[in-house]
Amino acid sequence: MEYNKSQIKENLEAITKKIRIAEQNAGRTVGSVKLLAVSKFHPAECVLDSIDCGQIMFGENRVQEASEKFQKILDLGKTFNLHIIGSLQRNKVKNAVKYATCIESVDRIELLQEIEKECSKINKKIDVLFEFHTGEDTKSGFKTEEDLEFAIKYVAENNTPHVNLKGFMTMAPFTSDKEIIKNSFAKMRLISEKMKKKYSSINFSELSMGMSGDFEIAIAEGSTEVRVGTSIFGERNY
Ligand SMILES: *Cc1c(COP(=O)(O)O)cnc(C)c1O
Repeated sequence: MEYNKSQIKENLEAITKKIRIAEQNAGRTVGSVKLLAVSKFHPAECVLDSIDCGQIMFGENRVQEASEKFQKILDLGKTFNLHIIGSLQRNKVKNAVKYATCIESVDRIELLQEIEKECSKINKKIDVLFEFHTGEDTKSGFKTEEDLEFAIKYVAENNTPHVNLKGFMTMAPFTSDKEIIKNSFAKMRLISEKMKKKYSSINFSELSMGMSGDFEIAIAEGSTEVRVGTSIFGERNY
């Protein structure tokens, strides 16, 4: 069962309110945290309902699913920003860059090179985030700070003119232990601050951290974008 429009509207409003409160509690500028609605496993109708409610940014894990869903939405003349947030194979990049405005899950230099190659072919400039592995349970993301910095250097040396590196993404471990979650986000923030100082030519402005269960902790640790699925669209039927 998918939620109807009024339920989605209510959920979007409730999440937005919680985000604003979390911003205030953290002494952050109110309105500084963006909401990415993660629509994976939910149909195009749910996305359309959210667009009608004013939601613009959407997140999807799988390129095949995303391209089918968002082609339908394009065909209806709607506008949106699509972020790819799941691990991405090289052979999916061509299709991914066709639909996405941002790829948040860049976790290796080969992927970055493929994105540059495909974007240059279609003369498109795309935003990317580098995903960093801060949690114990997740597999995705650059595993070491050295690997991460190597990729940042690669961008700073102007090897990727079609790529706009905007910051970092991370996932906290799947645990109810708030301290562990907080440490994971704090680690990401510290690395971000360090890289900002070191590579001043790159405009690191985004920190994509926090999901349905932990976005308030993420906002306290400096997140600029929370990726929320379940609390908007309900449980996913995998
Ligand atoms: C699915 C997913 C989300 C959303 O998770 P919810 O718990 O449903 O809010 C956020 N980020 C990533 C990378 C995801 O894969």
